[in-house]
Amino acid sequence: MQQYDVLVIGKGNAALCAALAARDKGASVCMLEAANVDESGGNSRFAGGVMRFVYNNVDDLRKLTDLTDEEAAAADWESNTIEQFYDDLYQVTSYRTDPSLSETLITKSFPTMVWLRSQGGRFEPNYRHQSAIVNGRRKFFGRFPLHLTGGGDGLVHTLTETAARKGIDIAYETRAVSLIYDGERVLGVNAKQHGKAVSYGARTVILACGGFEANPEWRTRYLGPGWELAKVRGSRFNVGDGLRMALDIGACPYGNWSGRHAVSWEMHAPEFGEVSKSHEPYRHSYPLSIMINAEGKRFVDEGAEFYNYTYAKYGAEVLKQTGQFAWQVFDAKVRKLLRPEYDGRNVTRVVANTLEELASKLEGVHAEAFLKTVREYNAAVQTQIPFNHAAKDGRRTNGIEPPKSNWANPLDTPPYEAFGVTCGITFTFGGLRINHETGQVVDLNFHPIPGLYAAGETVGGIFYFNYPAGTGLVSGCVFGKIAGDGAADALKAQ
Ligand SMILES: Cc1cc2nc3c(=O)[nH]c(=O)nc-3n(C[C@H](O)[C@H](O)[C@H](O)COP(=O)(O)OP(=O)(O)OC[C@H]3O[C@@H](n4cnc5c(N)ncnc54)[C@H](O)[C@@H]3O)c2cc1C
Repeated sequence: MQQYDVLVIGKGNAALCAALAARDKGASVCMLEAANVDESGGNSRFAGGVMRFVYNNVDDLRKLTDLTDEEAAAADWESNTIEQFYDDLYQVTSYRTDPSLSETLITKSFPTMVWLRSQGGRFEPNYRHQSAIVNGRRKFFGRFPLHLTGGGDGLVHTLTETAARKGIDIAYETRAVSLIYDGERVLGVNAKQHGKAVSYGARTVILACGGFEANPEWRTRYLGPGWELAKVRGSRFNVGDGLRMALDIGACPYGNWSGRHAVSWEMHAPEFGEVSKSHEPYRHSYPLSIMINAEGKRFVDEGAEFYNYTYAKYGAEVLKQTGQFAWQVFDAKVRKLLRPEYDGRNVTRVVANTLEELASKLEGVHAEAFLKTVREYNAAVQTQIPFNHAAKDGRRTNGIEPPKSNWANPLDTPPYEAFGVTCGITFTFGGLRINHETGQVVDLNFHPIPGLYAAGETVGGIFYFNYPAGTGLVSGCVFGKIAGDGAADALKAQ
């Protein structure tokens, strides 16, 4: 049996950060990846690449990317202070996020980004999204002035290169199946490798193998009826293995097991994501739309917030609608503001010159009810308030349910366009309970399980109900590094 100091299960962002941290402390490290090389890297490879970390000003950003003095001076880079990050995370999770995990995530986010850069992570200014020229000056308005060069795919690629350079072994097509456990401590894993049963011995095991979003049976079991019908936005390999293996030896489940990150997603997207087309199915411009269901009615406040704070919960609202679909309806006034994916390939779209013609083209929608909804909505828009897509403009509706709280525009300028969406699940919130200082998994009595650590989406307790955009990768880095450090430090104590 091959023997390592540290065995990391998975090869996404959290796993790579854990492996690199443990290796930097001198441990021998092997990563087991269920996928083949081409499909490896988990959801991390699908990530658009925005990351939510604390920064106070452009000087902090210059520690992560090379900006010239001219570039630094030419934009309002805003900030994401510790307080702002706390406010965002606590508000979207309805104050349920674990205080210790969230404090760790927030306070370690910036130093961990500096560490990530030292491991090969590359950032660049995020001029394409959530940024605009306002009064002749560039302004960022989503707390994401930087994004990863090459997105999540680029990050996994560079971290994999760093891992290879540092002598970390990676076994592909090797799916961990169960933990080797003597009743007191974890001693390795049993795995299926190219169809054969193999075992790996280890002094510590780090589970960084995602949640259960790609498992329709678990989704139905934990998220509820209907969730088997959601499309999977990312990897097909995260089916809850890490959670099952740990629960089987008495690990403590934690967090929002019926919660998930799920978005409005191209209506006819494939069952799972494809890395090379990972952006195609995005439909994140709904705050500029009205969203209509089969009954011809609106069902959410499309403009409650910037999409960063609502997109992860509105997918579930779409799933609840008859037929699990909705149409996002826009008129010509806002068309140029839509994200580029709306002009891409494989888009379910209808265009019309009148609202009546559009109603007849909205497949599955009650046409009369739709026209009534639009008439009432148009009459309710407070047009005296100026429209400004680069700020929460307060241009709202009055007297209709649900309201639209920002960016409300009457639908009155042809051509009208509508885009069909369904629900795409990103990841699940339930996971294992860990010690926030070491990443060690605890048992049902809250005692640490010797030899077992976890990171990334395998950890529960951070996200409840909703999620502030850009936090998944940061969480994987922070808790991946903590688990790698913790596992390597534990070896010295053995
Ligand atoms: C389309 C999309 C866009 C996103 N955009 C962003 C973004 O811009 N910013 C952001 O912060 N987050 C984003 N996210 C979320 C982010 O990608 C995840 O939160 C993050 O990548 C999770 O990292 P992870 O390492 O925990 O899991 P993953 O990256 O999913 O890695 C899990 C790994 O475990 C492996 N695995 C699973 N089971 C086994 C097993 N039994 N044995 C061995 N290996 C196994 C998988 O193959 C994979 O390698 C996005 C997600 C998607 C799907």
